[in-house]
Amino acid sequence: MAYDPDNIFAKILRGEIPCNKVFEDDYALAFHDIQPQTPVHVLVIPKGAYVSMDDFSATASDAELASFSRAIGHVARDLGLVENGYRILANNGEDSHQEVQHLHMHIFAGQNLGRMIKPIDK
Ligand code: 5GP
Repeated sequence: MAYDPDNIFAKILRGEIPCNKVFEDDYALAFHDIQPQTPVHVLVIPKGAYVSMDDFSATASDAELASFSRAIGHVARDLGLVENGYRILANNGEDSHQEVQHLHMHIFAGQNLGRMIKPIDK
């Protein structure tokens, strides 16, 4: 899938839409999700134009890849999430219900998050 420069996170990166920012460096931006699903729900995005983890892992530079991981860890520590724990999750493609076509890592925390995934009905 080609990157759409008009996706909502591209607009946030350009400052055309506001966000509640928690972290920014040269390569990544983190902000609170507009519809939080847990008491803490933050999104970490690379500043580069990457549709998904598939795209990012295949084509991003080593500096971008490293910085993205560092940003996630930094945000979690900065928000005090390490002691009680947190979950990171990135949807990739249709079956995962990825809605925004710019790579984003969800950070969920602030409550017991239960099992990792709802088992499929058999
Ligand atoms: P996905 O389903 O693509 O993994 O998650 C997209 C996430 O982006 C959702 O949790 C949704 O609430 C969040 N989101 C969508 N539009 C906006 C927005 O304009 N601002 C912020 N902060 N989050 C958004």
